[in-house]
Amino acid sequence: MRPAPTSSTTDTPPPLDRRSLRPDCTNCFALCCTALGFSRSADFAVDKPAGTPCRNLASDFSCTIHEALRPRGFRGCTVFDCFGAGQRVSRGLFGGISWAADPESGMDMFAAFKTARQLHEMLWYLEEAQGRTFDPEARHRAGRLGATIEAAMGGGVQQLLGLDVEEVHASVRAVLIEISEEVRMSYSAAGREHLDAALVPGADLIGGNLRSRRLCGADLRGAYLIGADLRFSDLSGVDLLGADLRDARLDGADLSRALYLTQSQLDAAGGSRATRLPADLKMPAHWGDS
Ligand code: SF4
Repeated sequence: MRPAPTSSTTDTPPPLDRRSLRPDCTNCFALCCTALGFSRSADFAVDKPAGTPCRNLASDFSCTIHEALRPRGFRGCTVFDCFGAGQRVSRGLFGGISWAADPESGMDMFAAFKTARQLHEMLWYLEEAQGRTFDPEARHRAGRLGATIEAAMGGGVQQLLGLDVEEVHASVRAVLIEISEEVRMSYSAAGREHLDAALVPGADLIGGNLRSRRLCGADLRGAYLIGADLRFSDLSGVDLLGADLRDARLDGADLSRALYLTQSQLDAAGGSRATRLPADLKMPAHWGDS
């Protein structure tokens, strides 16, 4: 595996920008519906091997059951987020020539999509970290890592496929944790008495009752919050990196200043118009008004 290319350590990296990290399905060759595999489960009605088109995929790369994904048993499709990797691989790396038009490119395109998605997800978090820290050195490190990832994305297909993603991920993870600690401490400067011992990274909080709790500054990175009741709780400064929020109840919760939250996590949860969200995330279509 080729190590990640590095950018200069002296240049001031530009602020990262999330605009290119939003999916644009109209400019993608349905890479999530082909490159990825899924197993029959509560989220997918059928088995589908990786590298093959879904049986619901039309020849124009649209989904024939798009308006009925949940009732037809494809809830998993409604919560997937490629972080803009789909259009970048389709139009950028492969110049707008699809796997259908050039079948020999398919395997490389699918592999590039999987790597690009991981890198774009890292960029999503780094952008937030860069904006939330008050430490100029930490901000610089986040920006430099973002620039390194952008350089890897811009180096062509073979460079991307040879990238040591684990090495990049380890560096990104360290910066994200460092900035998380800074942000969380600022929310619990008056003490952490409101945080009990169960609120730790990776905690099993499945079905837990966290209703109307002040959770500010908790580290719930990777926590299992499946079906947890978080209604009317304050999650300001809560690290939710990779937390599993499937079917969590978020009605009335304040997530406006939560850390490392993604659209995919919201889409998997339940909530309402009374849920307060970060400015750059939107209320999922299936949430009610109550
Ligand atoms: S059901 Fe539709 S959105 Fe889901 S993988 Fe198949 S074609 Fe894509």
